[in-house]
Amino acid sequence: MTTQAPEKMEFQTEVRQLLHLMIHALYSNREIFLRELVSNASDALDKARFESLTNADLLGSDTALKIRVEADKENGILRISDNGVGMNREEIIHNIGTIASSGTKKFLESLTGDQKKDANLIGQFGVGFYSAFMVADNVVLTTKRLGEDGSAWRWESTGDGSFTLGEAEKETRGTVIELHLKEDAKEFLDEWRIRNLVTKYSGYLAHPVALVASEGEQKGEEEILNDQKPLWRRPKNEVTAEQHKEFYQHLTHGQDEPMAWSHNRVEGTLEFTTLLYVPGKAPYDLFNPERPHGLALYVKRVFIMNDCKELLPPWLRFMRGVVDSEDLPLNVSRELLQKNTVIRKIHDAAVSKSLNLLETLSKEDPAKYAAFWKEFGAVLKEGFHMNWDHLDELKRLIRFESSRLVAGEYTGLQDYVLNMKDGQKDIFYLTAENRRAAEGSPHLEVFRKKGVEVLYLVDPIDEWVVQTLTEFDGKKLVNAAKGALDLGELSAEEKAREESATGTYGKFMADFAAKMPDMLKEVRVTARLAESPCCLVSGEEDLGANLERILKMSNQTVPESKRTLEINPDHPIIQRLNARFEANPNDPRLPDWYGVLVDQALLAEGSDLKDPAGYVTKVNGLLKDLLEA
Ligand code: ADP
Repeated sequence: MTTQAPEKMEFQTEVRQLLHLMIHALYSNREIFLRELVSNASDALDKARFESLTNADLLGSDTALKIRVEADKENGILRISDNGVGMNREEIIHNIGTIASSGTKKFLESLTGDQKKDANLIGQFGVGFYSAFMVADNVVLTTKRLGEDGSAWRWESTGDGSFTLGEAEKETRGTVIELHLKEDAKEFLDEWRIRNLVTKYSGYLAHPVALVASEGEQKGEEEILNDQKPLWRRPKNEVTAEQHKEFYQHLTHGQDEPMAWSHNRVEGTLEFTTLLYVPGKAPYDLFNPERPHGLALYVKRVFIMNDCKELLPPWLRFMRGVVDSEDLPLNVSRELLQKNTVIRKIHDAAVSKSLNLLETLSKEDPAKYAAFWKEFGAVLKEGFHMNWDHLDELKRLIRFESSRLVAGEYTGLQDYVLNMKDGQKDIFYLTAENRRAAEGSPHLEVFRKKGVEVLYLVDPIDEWVVQTLTEFDGKKLVNAAKGALDLGELSAEEKAREESATGTYGKFMADFAAKMPDMLKEVRVTARLAESPCCLVSGEEDLGANLERILKMSNQTVPESKRTLEINPDHPIIQRLNARFEANPNDPRLPDWYGVLVDQALLAEGSDLKDPAGYVTKVNGLLKDLLEA
């Protein structure tokens, strides 16, 4: 074998920035480097075990998978080694070299400048390995890939712009990472400190973590620091909240804390364990369709894969956790997963357990549930149009902002019903671009006057939710901006007023509609307005202004639909305009007045004007009249 001289390579720009930060800016909480490296080692052992499932000889005689931590005080080196999969040359370059993961970029964008918070971001974005440079001024990684005959490799860097990569001497598979500790980081050579850190951060790991004595009579002896029973295999009531938190962070490579969890063992025709977590924070790429999701799958304690998407539907993609099955074959493949009935049943159980967990959270801790909703509500809402098996649960879980509550607070449908007025039959909602637009909508006026709560549906997906969510508890969900408004007994008085005014304004309304044939289907009197002179409503069957806006934004062609204009019979503008019409039905300014009123109704509901310049010309013409009068 000819050994080539090590090659010098440049880190990619983002990696360079990240390293610079690790070395110069992030000092607090740097002890997490050990968790990150031990966690990587554990993942490498999982992968080795997995690869050996299909090839029993792969591991040779070295079947005891283990992580070793050794403090070499003499040389100031902390060594973390594993006999896991290791890496070949390409893998090294790809994983810890030239290519910045999209996570690295996002990490850099997310920095707040607050050291503590920023250090906490490290794990979350999959940049864990580089945290070594918080404590080391030189890192040497020697690694040999499992199952490949090729050579071993030595990667070395001082964390400046480059690293070197060359062949190395290493007989056994796996990875050794040598951290040449900085002067001010020598504390991490202290065995007591290491023992504490490993127990604190890595106690739940399924692989043994050994502390190797470096001095004295015990030199070379190994002390196992964890008890290696996978956390989900322990009796439920023996696992502490602190352990769940640590395990969740290992599982997700994150620093957020889970909001809630559910740990269940099912024993029947099928045997499996589910451990589900509701995360505390949404990942930055929650809405990236390519983002992997699902639960980690184990078969009889053996790691099979992360992100097994067959275990949870996309609308529960925020959930994290583990499934460990007794019934699946160990050599289960991706193809097999797709049509496997065992997986299907575990999937159904995981969905029910997730929904139960959320419902319990919503009842026991509404404030926490509101925080959950802020992070993940939009994802859960996708369930309404993707799956009808769980509509009842989803209806109990959905939350909205509303006219009864201040911004940022949510109501559920059960609470809405409890707050309904005597005589109110329906559940009312408005769809709008945002809360401000909903609050400013003329359609809200009568509800405000009557003290009737209106839900604000201000998330684009809400338009699709209400296609499926049409009733709750026997009450219809009614769009407050569509069709003729029926407030039932609540508006008997207004109904009478509508009828009497319809006679008064009959001719005027016919003229109004006739002069705007492209825009208007009809002009009618309404009792729904208090302050505004008029508003536009859509037909029950039409898309509605908000949905039209959303569709246009995504460049879809929207069929033109005519609208109904409703006028407020008690508004002075309407009254005077009617008088002007009666005095002279051919008044040349009438079309401008009509046009301005319609355009203003469009603006009030948050729609765009078809001809903004035309609107300005009309308004200016009317202002000129006023000034000259
Ligand atoms: P993450 O672990 O979140 O993917 P890291 O920066 O910690 O991010 O590691 C990058 C990659 O380097 C890992 O995904 C893995 O492929 C590889 N790696 C790191 N440590 C080891 C190890 N001890 N053995 C094998 N591969 C490793």
